Amino acid sequence: MRHMNQSDTSNSRALVWFHRDLRNFDHAALYHALRNHRQVFCAFVFDTEILETLPARTDRRVEFIRESLVELDAALRKDGGALVVCHGKAREEIPRLAAQLDVAAVYANHDYEPQAIERDLDVARRLQAIGISFADFKDQVIFERDEVLTQTGKPFGVFTAYKNAWLRKLNDFYLRSYPVGNYVNRLSIAPQAIGVPTLQGIGFETSNLKALRLPVGMSGGAQLFDDFSERMDRYKDARDFPAVKGVSYLSTHLRFGTVSIRELARHAWQVGGAGAETWLSELIWRDFYHQILFHHPHVVTHAWKVEYDDIRWETGAAADALFAAWCEARTGYPIVDAAMRQLNQTGFMHNRLRMITASFLTKDLGIHWLRGERYFAAQLNDYDLAANNGGWQWAASTGCDAQPYFRIFNPVTQSERFDAGGKFIRKYLPELTGVPDKYIHAPWKLPMVDQRQLGVVIGTDYPAPVVDHATVREMTLSRFRKTPG
Ligand SMILES: Cc1cc2nc3c(=O)[nH]c(=O)nc-3n(C[C@H](O)[C@H](O)[C@H](O)COP(=O)(O)OP(=O)(O)OC[C@H]3O[C@@H](n4cnc5c(N)ncnc54)[C@H](O)[C@@H]3O)c2cc1C
Repeated sequence: MRHMNQSDTSNSRALVWFHRDLRNFDHAALYHALRNHRQVFCAFVFDTEILETLPARTDRRVEFIRESLVELDAALRKDGGALVVCHGKAREEIPRLAAQLDVAAVYANHDYEPQAIERDLDVARRLQAIGISFADFKDQVIFERDEVLTQTGKPFGVFTAYKNAWLRKLNDFYLRSYPVGNYVNRLSIAPQAIGVPTLQGIGFETSNLKALRLPVGMSGGAQLFDDFSERMDRYKDARDFPAVKGVSYLSTHLRFGTVSIRELARHAWQVGGAGAETWLSELIWRDFYHQILFHHPHVVTHAWKVEYDDIRWETGAAADALFAAWCEARTGYPIVDAAMRQLNQTGFMHNRLRMITASFLTKDLGIHWLRGERYFAAQLNDYDLAANNGGWQWAASTGCDAQPYFRIFNPVTQSERFDAGGKFIRKYLPELTGVPDKYIHAPWKLPMVDQRQLGVVIGTDYPAPVVDHATVREMTLSRFRKTPG
């Protein structure tokens, strides 16, 4: 793989291959292709190697992508271009299309997931075999790969040290925008650009995405960011409370690149103040986990601290039943169940709740973090391997710079602290609406006479707790102590 410059443009046609960068502004690959070539085509592949791994034929993410492609295609057409949308194996479709269009080069942005790295190398090899170059660029993070290293040249494993080095390195150069608009007259329409297929056309069904009102595409990302910029100064204080509109809700847009990370980071950096600085820190966590995944791809299936692969997690029928109760929001712990309903119904879960539910699965139920990680991967609209894996290994204490294993969230006190009035719980567990605030976090403590009077009999109308927190806490401590870590 190589980067091209103007001298490479003897054949002045190029193809830009979009994947998790569904926008036509501040786009590294698109910018470089336009600058270097006189005729530029654009393509996206609904990659069957990915689609076939999805657990259901109704998937909000596929619909989010499809809707965002419709907007991207329309935006490109306004500038005289258009999107070719293929359905097949990207590793075959891209070289085929590149050959048909007789381009000199294919341009794309970097991806850091092991499977994507392998796919892109394969595409580059196949292109090379037919005399076409492959040029790829950093786009979805501020700093990638080896750009932020320790003084001894090693990847960071501790977030605070990484963050300090990241901030030291940051300057206008890394936050600059790619001025795609300077060259848009070079966009061209390929004969294969016949519109974006319907969901049914690629074997999927409509999900509840529209009903959820999650705005899609570049316009949706901009709308959410405008809304959040007004609230950014309150982020530090508001971000931990799931019943409060305190976070940005931009994660799905960051996942699919309908917003530009540079634009968001630049804004937070320039605005400054406690809220913006805290939010910028979250964007740095995102870079941090991407570089962890890039440097340590073993984390996909193994503990980052490899010695924790020896932890004896619960298995067998009893563990399977507990896992099902967790997935289906039947643990008897209202904050956990409300969070799991939010996930199952909307594909989103608030960060505080991701930490609580992940801790509950691994440390209260003693179930392997990978099972939870895979469940989230199937459900989350914003599912991102680097962040999800990082978050799970953090909560399970198996990851880099993770929560120490002896810090075990108490689901009741977490609930009292972060959903004090039970507003979030009642939103997703209407069966508990009548439970007084005093008992909403632990309804099994409600006297039986009150349970009957309120029509919320624990064990009948709402589950009894599947485990006793104090007991399982001790089991978890001993599980970790037995593992040399
Ligand atoms: C167990 C677990 C699993 C997670 N899985 C994912 C996932 O699959 N995809 C995902 O994008 N985030 C994941 N996160 C991180 C975080 O929960 C979400 O990014 C956040 O809740 C999304 O909401 P938001 O966009 O309103 O976030 P904001 O609070 O507004 O943060 C802004 C952005 O910063 C990034 N960010 C925030 N927190 C983190 C973090 N801890 N790690 C990495 N990036 C972060 C996200 O891109 C987010 O959109 C996970 C966290 C945990 C604990």
